Amino acid sequence: MNEFEIIKTYFYPLAKKFPGALSLLDDAALLDIDPDHQMVITNDILTAGVHFFENDPADLVARKSIRVNLSDLAAMGAEPLVYLLALSLPNTVDDAWLELFSNGLKRDQINYGISLIGGDTSSTPGPTSISITMLGRIRVNKALKKSNAKLGDDIWVSGNIGDAGVALKIIKGEVNVIDDKSKNYLFKRLHLPEPRLELGNNLIEIANSATDISDGLANDLNNICQASGFGAVVQGDSIPISELVSTLIKQTKHLKMSHIISGGDDYELVFTAPPEYTKNINTLSKKMGLKISKIGSIVEGKTIRIIDKIGHDLPLETEGYQHF
Ligand code: ADP
Ligand code: MG
Repeated sequence: MNEFEIIKTYFYPLAKKFPGALSLLDDAALLDIDPDHQMVITNDILTAGVHFFENDPADLVARKSIRVNLSDLAAMGAEPLVYLLALSLPNTVDDAWLELFSNGLKRDQINYGISLIGGDTSSTPGPTSISITMLGRIRVNKALKKSNAKLGDDIWVSGNIGDAGVALKIIKGEVNVIDDKSKNYLFKRLHLPEPRLELGNNLIEIANSATDISDGLANDLNNICQASGFGAVVQGDSIPISELVSTLIKQTKHLKMSHIISGGDDYELVFTAPPEYTKNINTLSKKMGLKISKIGSIVEGKTIRIIDKIGHDLPLETEGYQHF
């Protein structure tokens, strides 16, 4: 069974009577807190050996743990408030690691105006594991969901896709080492994703559906399509990639656009909006100084197609990372 079958078989039955659980299919859950607001709640685990390497700098691991959770709130359009931190630490952990780790948390607490409010700490015979539960807030009935894409919506994506995936390929030795400046850019994109909170917030009155890209553009767009009951056609040429990744694709025989689309960890937002919002989105993009690219549209059907200039399908690996 893969991750999603496990959730559907064993955990969905426990959540199906609670509407705010959104069938365990969305980026976060919704809980009514007062007549005007809902709490938006998400949890993400980062495990050494799966999501990061045990000897990665502890401050970067801390900050990524916070940021992947913030990214889920951004995808719902929510404003972050506080978080809980559950740590499983090998008994080899030392003060230097904890000092660096807590400094990383502190830095991003300041960056994002959030505070730690609780958690749990345990030893483990296994690898380091960091679980963060992030709580945020949104005005009632305003949360952006995966399940609300409409037929004919344009599909948009923020920033560039593929930088983090390529960084991982460099670490694994699958893409050749390049100059330090380029490497730093790509590693920063992998270690310090920028949760698109401002964008998410601005999309509340614009987008019909949204999610963050944590599992590759193809997989996360596919989740929107599945949840909304539609298909998608994406123009491969309009998928935004950095100049650097574009050059690397040309230079590296086994690095293809399909890897860029299927690789994860971008933490950009992919969202859908009616075509009449094009101008608003372009204005928003300018105002924020953030690239937002129109890449395709929502169509009848159940599959997503990524096509080249002459309408041929690009190969897709919609599997994403397989935990099991
Ligand atoms: P994301 O990539 O946005 O962090 P995940 O792929 O981790 O989301 O999870 C997909 C959905 O399944 C989310 O709605 C999440 O809350 C839910 N989920 C994952 N694991 C569990 C679990 N053990 N129990 C209940 N819900 C879960
Ligand atoms: Mg998500």
